[in-house]
Amino acid sequence: MLTNRQLFLLHLGQTSTAPLMLEIERAEGVFMYGPRGKKYLDLISGVSVSNTGHRHPKVVEAVKEQADAYLHLMVYGEMIQSPQVKYAEKLCGLLPATLDNCFFVNSGSEAVEGALKLAKRFTGRSKLISFKNSYHGSTHGALSIQGNELYKNAFRPLLPDTLQLDFNNETSIGAIDRKTACVITEPIQAEAGVIFPVKGFLPKIRQRCTETGALLVFDEVQTGFGRTGFMFAISRFGVVPDILVLAKALGGGMPLGAFISSKKIMSSLITNPQLGHITTFGGHPVCCAAGLASLNVIIDENLIASCEEKSNLFRKELNHPLISDIRGEGLLLAVVLPEPEFVRYAVAHAPDYGLLLDYFLFCPDAFRIAPPLTISPQEILAACNQLKILLDVTMKNARKK
Ligand code: PMP
Repeated sequence: MLTNRQLFLLHLGQTSTAPLMLEIERAEGVFMYGPRGKKYLDLISGVSVSNTGHRHPKVVEAVKEQADAYLHLMVYGEMIQSPQVKYAEKLCGLLPATLDNCFFVNSGSEAVEGALKLAKRFTGRSKLISFKNSYHGSTHGALSIQGNELYKNAFRPLLPDTLQLDFNNETSIGAIDRKTACVITEPIQAEAGVIFPVKGFLPKIRQRCTETGALLVFDEVQTGFGRTGFMFAISRFGVVPDILVLAKALGGGMPLGAFISSKKIMSSLITNPQLGHITTFGGHPVCCAAGLASLNVIIDENLIASCEEKSNLFRKELNHPLISDIRGEGLLLAVVLPEPEFVRYAVAHAPDYGLLLDYFLFCPDAFRIAPPLTISPQEILAACNQLKILLDVTMKNARKK
């Protein structure tokens, strides 16, 4: 009989030549558990998904309750499903007044696709502007606006009429013109290695979009739901987009995406043609119930208030000669090492030290720390102790390979 490991390689489509290949039987809080008592402290949260930890009791309860009521009923947009309605109301209540209309989909990429189509439809324009080193997803539209040529080149031709500007270069903003349907940006570039906008950059983009009639789209798929110490980066930077894209932590561990705009803008998807943007499973009731429960946990447990303190504890404890810098805010941190080979070694060997780490897509000299926001100070201390042991070993061994 083949092992799960063998079957994984045989029957599941692979995404790289070096998958982590950890077998997990159970997950709870900040821990994942493998066979034979193996335990891993999750410093990644499934890439900024499990902000309230794994299987938070309130989230599990909401999932069970909704599963007992109904699962899929009908394609999105037809039935009045109370988990969708309640979640949309809650989200819109937390956002600026102009973001009052929520279109649920299944993933981040799909939410980006929806946002791009909405911007084209509303403005009647086709030019899509984004930024170098941005990541917005792997589907064709999202890939077309991605700011990394390596990932795009193998899949051309992609969408025409796209342009990638230099992030944090104010002069590049002049390229936003009256042919531009939208400018899409992550307020903080995550996969680029947690790159913050320089002061004034996002307001300048906002101003130029307003002048030219281009819509501003914020992709908060990774920065949303308290990850950087604010519920959304909108409040961090005081800039309100025309469309907000959410996913990852939106579903509380279940697959869910959304693009949120004003009722006026969103209404342009209703006609000419009708049913021009539809989804079968978008806003699945179990996912919406889980997402709402998770959002309530973030609020009720004051997870955002403690985020900065936890971030500072990581920074204080992670004093190691191999670390040249720690970028980021809240619990989205990029730990910079002198060379990519150190990062490769540390991430690959982290499980041997009971830790789960991850790379960034476009930043080879840093690894990511993005644990559940529920992580306790004691768990942070334990994680940092293990990390320092791992980095000692990394320093000795990485170059020998
Ligand atoms: N936007 C950003 C900023 C992301 O980080 C990601 C996923 N890493 C996506 C979009 C795409 O989301 P998904 O993988 O759910 O399609």
